[in-house]
Amino acid sequence: MQRRDFLRLLGTGVALGMMAPFADVLAAGSVTMPGNTGANGRVVVIGGGMAGTTVAKYLRLWGGTGVQVTLVEPNPTYISNIFSNKVLTGERTLTQLSYKYGTLTSKYGVKLITKSVTAIDYVGQQVTLNDGSKLPYDRLVIAPGVAFDALPMSGTAAAQAKVVHAWQAGVQTTSLQTQIKAMTKADTFILTIPAKPYRCPPGPYERACVVADYLTRTKKGGKVVVLDANPGIQAEVENFTNAFKNIHKNITYVPNASISSIDANTGTVNTSAGAFKGKVINAIPPHRAGKIITDNPLLANVGGRWAGVNVLSYESALPKIHVIGDAAATTQPKAGHIANAEAKVCADAIVHLLRGEAVNPSPMTNSACYTPITSTTASWLSVVYRYDPVTGTMLPTGNGVTESSGINKDNHEEMLKWFSNLMSDTFA
Ligand SMILES: Cc1cc2nc3c(=O)[nH]c(=O)nc-3n(C[C@H](O)[C@H](O)[C@H](O)COP(=O)(O)OP(=O)(O)OC[C@H]3O[C@@H](n4cnc5c(N)ncnc54)[C@H](O)[C@@H]3O)c2cc1C
Repeated sequence: MQRRDFLRLLGTGVALGMMAPFADVLAAGSVTMPGNTGANGRVVVIGGGMAGTTVAKYLRLWGGTGVQVTLVEPNPTYISNIFSNKVLTGERTLTQLSYKYGTLTSKYGVKLITKSVTAIDYVGQQVTLNDGSKLPYDRLVIAPGVAFDALPMSGTAAAQAKVVHAWQAGVQTTSLQTQIKAMTKADTFILTIPAKPYRCPPGPYERACVVADYLTRTKKGGKVVVLDANPGIQAEVENFTNAFKNIHKNITYVPNASISSIDANTGTVNTSAGAFKGKVINAIPPHRAGKIITDNPLLANVGGRWAGVNVLSYESALPKIHVIGDAAATTQPKAGHIANAEAKVCADAIVHLLRGEAVNPSPMTNSACYTPITSTTASWLSVVYRYDPVTGTMLPTGNGVTESSGINKDNHEEMLKWFSNLMSDTFA
């Protein structure tokens, strides 16, 4: 599977290996909403991010008018995490990364409720919203993304407020951008990476690269120190090793560096690999599934942090409740591209279940990720997963993860197309 195939597949809205009945209509570039396909029921989707928005759209496209889909999302606008590292360097704005739900409602007939879900009654099959109202469901899909642990930090409230993760695009991204902009060539940017699993395995290394590039281009100096709680680089090992060694010589990479404490007043990060001092501290805390999952131990049945799922349908330990995207514990990475693919497998399965049919026994998904290394060059990784009936998991096919054989301008151009296709497939 070549990277161009991924771009093409995303453009057609097809999830690999699936019998998507209306994929041909999508491929033709026009969207005709199907009538009743024999699938009937109320589906509530919690969370309008990469996973939730995709599942809502495809439930309608593949399920037809009998599938009533309600999306519950508190924010009227979704801000993409993907490309948010480029906001830190001033190459993008948060406005450029903002997506609305208008097409989802007007074109696909999804009902949008701009509220959040506070409780799930899995026996009575209904959810409670933050205004106290109840919403019944026949199937529930939960896609709340991640939440972050608190870090062991001391210092004044003002100093602590400056130590942000910016791992959920929004106000923290703006705060970090402002702090980076104020750096001089004598300053150090410290980035801490939590132990896996965390969202977007290549993302922190990408951030180190684009910040190092920005400092070199605009400040003619400045250092980046990467404190990784993991024993080594977690994705695109060859490309990032090359980037750290040969392209960004101002990056120091420190593996096995788990945080023991952060003194926000002095800008000191104490770790198992020693103490490091910096002007700007960008600390990414350990992740867990969104609160609506961890509130319920029956859902958060993987270490109390993540939701275990059957990857044939993404049904959780609780019947008729499906969990997709970063919140689910699977063998696949926590990333936007795979969240989009998981959502399609889930939508397809729910449509079959609502028709009283068996789900696809051999789904395939793919994850592709382009990584800016400088303002004009990028690398990429890709991997295709297939369901393995022996282990009941999604396993990589072929040689597993493939990474680009180089870091270059062509990849950077393809990256822009890939992003545009992925976001269109999700929000348009
Ligand atoms: C800097 C950075 C760069 C990245 N780059 C890439 C990349 O290049 N490629 C890639 O594939 N991935 C990338 N990712 C990862 C990607 O952004 C996530 O994996 C993806 O957003 C996960 O989708 P999701 O739907 O699970 O969660 P999200 O997209 O976070 O969406 C969750 C949604 O649920 C809503 N929600 C939460 N709780 C509730 C509730 N109780 N009620 C109602 N709604 C609720 C939230 O408001 C949110 O809108 C990157 C991430 C970061 C931080």
